[in-house]
Amino acid sequence: MQDFLKQTLSAEPPAQTSGHNEQLSWQWLDEGILEFTPHRPTARALVVSAGIHGNETAPIEIVNELVNELLAGKRTLQLRLLVIFGSPEAMRSGKRYQRCDLNRLFGGRWQQYEDNMEARRAWRLEQVLETFWQAGNCEEIRWHLDLHTAIRGSWHTQFGVMPLRDSAWPDDFLHWLAAAGLQALVFHRTPGGTFTHYSSQHFNAASCTLELGKALPFGSNDLSLFSAARDALAALLSGEALPPVNEPPLRYRVSQQITRFSEAFVLHMNSATLNFTAFPQGTLLAEDGDKRCYVQQAREYVLFPNPNVAKGQRAGLMLVEDNAHNETSGSR
Ligand code: ZN
Repeated sequence: MQDFLKQTLSAEPPAQTSGHNEQLSWQWLDEGILEFTPHRPTARALVVSAGIHGNETAPIEIVNELVNELLAGKRTLQLRLLVIFGSPEAMRSGKRYQRCDLNRLFGGRWQQYEDNMEARRAWRLEQVLETFWQAGNCEEIRWHLDLHTAIRGSWHTQFGVMPLRDSAWPDDFLHWLAAAGLQALVFHRTPGGTFTHYSSQHFNAASCTLELGKALPFGSNDLSLFSAARDALAALLSGEALPPVNEPPLRYRVSQQITRFSEAFVLHMNSATLNFTAFPQGTLLAEDGDKRCYVQQAREYVLFPNPNVAKGQRAGLMLVEDNAHNETSGSR
């Protein structure tokens, strides 16, 4: 296999499903799923996923470039690696998803849906992750980086969304996220159906959903905008020095979720509202019949506002700054 993305977009299985070079051996496990094992023993295992939303192409292109270097033996590998293109079908059609949002279905939530492409894929990806993590010993360090781009523009152009985690976040993981150029980190405080939440909850992996800019079609991305993330990922794969951290990311935590309950749902924001736009206490954010959603804290910031979601789904998150942390880290 020479080009993992081309191969995946072709919708055909590769002629050769495994191989090796001086650095590593690789195995194609399923459509868009490739496992790499370095010849040298390692105590680390990394899952890198992109294309969970099929139209978020820049991270797919970045990952593909690194994968092709690994396949060609041009890059050393210092950890066990599982690479996933999440939604090949949606990637081929240039859509976020076909029937339902794959990144809401993990942790068995796919079972609540009628049989469809995304539900099957969520099930398959859960199986693949389980097999991958269980192949290592229990001391193995597990990280999962899920790469996305956002639907809308943002005050912080690159940021990470962290799933609920019971234990402390590893310092080297937080440092890697800063080195990858993330300007903000958003910490969830409740469980969710995302891929990274699944890795965190079921396998205690340090995981993050990276939002690396705006979604554009294949070939239209200015990959130089993603150079910090790309360089940090390359360094992680090959055990090289990370890019320098200019400023540690600001921290936010989720204060409330805006949910669409019915057809009557109205979100009081427009398509130009940027992620991390601030709203003062008391602002009416959304209405849904007789339900109203207001800003509760002195100031809250919106993330991922999207009125066009299915009933019962998240139409936006409201955040507060984690002031205690931001002040002690001196990043303001
Ligand atoms: Zn996405």
